[in-house]
Amino acid sequence: MTAIPQPEIAAVHSKAHSNAQAAQFAIHNPATQEIIGTLPNMSANEIAEAVAKAAAAQSRWAATPVRDRMRLLGRFSELLCDQKDFVARVISREAGKPEAEAMSTEVMVVLDTVKYLQNHVPAFLKPEPVPHGNPVMKLKSGTLLREPYGVVGIISPWNYPFSLPSIQTLTALVTGNAVVLKPSEFTPYSSLELEKLLRAAGLDPDLLQVITGDGSAGAALLATNIQKVVFTGSVATGKRVAQAAAARLLPVVLELGGKDPMIVLEDADIDVASSAAVWGAFMNAGQTCLSVERCYVQEKIYPKFLEKCIEKTNKLRVGSSSRVSSAGEGAYAPHSDVDLGPMIHERQLSIVQSHVEDAIARGARLLAGGKPLTQLGPNFFAPTILADVDHSMKIMREETFGPVLPVRSFKTEDEAVALANDSEYGLAACIFTNDRKRGEALARRVQAGTVMVNDVLTCFGISEAPHGGIKASGIGRTHGRFGLEEMVWPKYLDSDRMPRMKKLWWYGYGPAFGQQMGGFIELLFAKGLIKRLRGGVKSTKSYLRRRLL
Ligand code: NAD
Repeated sequence: MTAIPQPEIAAVHSKAHSNAQAAQFAIHNPATQEIIGTLPNMSANEIAEAVAKAAAAQSRWAATPVRDRMRLLGRFSELLCDQKDFVARVISREAGKPEAEAMSTEVMVVLDTVKYLQNHVPAFLKPEPVPHGNPVMKLKSGTLLREPYGVVGIISPWNYPFSLPSIQTLTALVTGNAVVLKPSEFTPYSSLELEKLLRAAGLDPDLLQVITGDGSAGAALLATNIQKVVFTGSVATGKRVAQAAAARLLPVVLELGGKDPMIVLEDADIDVASSAAVWGAFMNAGQTCLSVERCYVQEKIYPKFLEKCIEKTNKLRVGSSSRVSSAGEGAYAPHSDVDLGPMIHERQLSIVQSHVEDAIARGARLLAGGKPLTQLGPNFFAPTILADVDHSMKIMREETFGPVLPVRSFKTEDEAVALANDSEYGLAACIFTNDRKRGEALARRVQAGTVMVNDVLTCFGISEAPHGGIKASGIGRTHGRFGLEEMVWPKYLDSDRMPRMKKLWWYGYGPAFGQQMGGFIELLFAKGLIKRLRGGVKSTKSYLRRRLL
């Protein structure tokens, strides 16, 4: 076996954690099974220490002018843009996806997020006036301040090992937080690359610390003095994270799984919709939270749609993006002619296989794929199309998270909406139609955090668009304005313009106070001008009879 050299990463990390007592764990290339490297499974004490260091650095960072934070962001962007090929290779090597995909769905999305943050954060963090409607309250000036939480704990999955933690980390940092980031034990090098780039851009090393280890490191992070946790991962782990957070009232964002439906109406362009279904189901080997996991096609175009999907699926090239180049042992060169890589590990593959087998046993028709591609390695599964599926099958109820496109037909729009909403998940959905108005009207009836009309998955690449789900798909949002709001807590600052005036509603109660308030309520809310004026006179007279304490 040939290990792919990672000298820079290894050096940075061993220095950062040279005192680690904990056992090491190995990281494998899921396509080739090569060991990419080993990293420490950090102990609870080391993780608590990292959080303490982050907390100390955060107080300084929160006082740093926003324009200085933006400058750092600019330097990071330049470095990432220059090193995009290397970063894409790091991602591809540990996650198995084609490098071109790592470039388009990870590196580019992060660079776009930086642009978004540069354009919006300075205004977002400016104190915001809160005008008052009640005439008496106009004597006070209200201001909304957005305060950083302190140390934000970020726990990430393996399927987008660079873009997910980067977007969340950058948003947390520029709003004045420090971050302790726990990447997936399967794909830690992408986060270490982020850490390295930010440090090279000038970030105080204590402000972003990547802690390595398995789920126990994530659990240990939750037990430290972090002030917020942003978790992305499975529903099962999300529930554990929510329980741990609830025990100490730690605010959480949970970005969890999905079972995203695609609805294809009979007026859709079949060629476009079938290309979208194939890409939406198989991109990143189907291991995307926003993957098309269920496809509903109006019956008139169902056979033709399936035919096109089969034709396109049969053209896909499955394989490893990693190969040893002819330059010799240890050298690395990517395959650029691969559409789909492997699954992340055999456990994920066996879930996919069991869903496919369950569907076939219950009457689904297998139209493409349906089996592991063992000749390529233990983690490869053929892109699979199943037709005539129904909601008794696991493939239509549980998150499959693999390269499977299960399709069934529907008669009416009402039926399509009912099928789409018949799920415990609600992350995203998409609708294909040549009538955009019809699609948008239908989109309003689908229960999902995002509904796209005539596209799939792409919403993740729109930095302005909030990302997140409803139902079991999670709580809270990342990306865009809502993502920014998650990284700050609102502080309302109230300043009274009349410092020498006792307030009319303070002590000095008695009959006159009741009349004063009654009159005041009439002045504000009674129907008709005369009644309101009478209320005003009553209130003023009563006030003049009162003696405030
Ligand atoms: P996972 O839940 O197994 O692991 C996610 C992270 O949690 C890992 O870093 C893991 O080490 C850590 N972890 C495990 N146990 C923990 C515990 N008890 N306490 C704290 N942390 C713990 O998920 P995964 O297999 O890495 O990722 C796949 C899942 O992520 C899929 O369900 C997918 O839909 C979901 N996902 C959701 C989004 C989204 O934005 N909604 C994005 C990507 C992936």
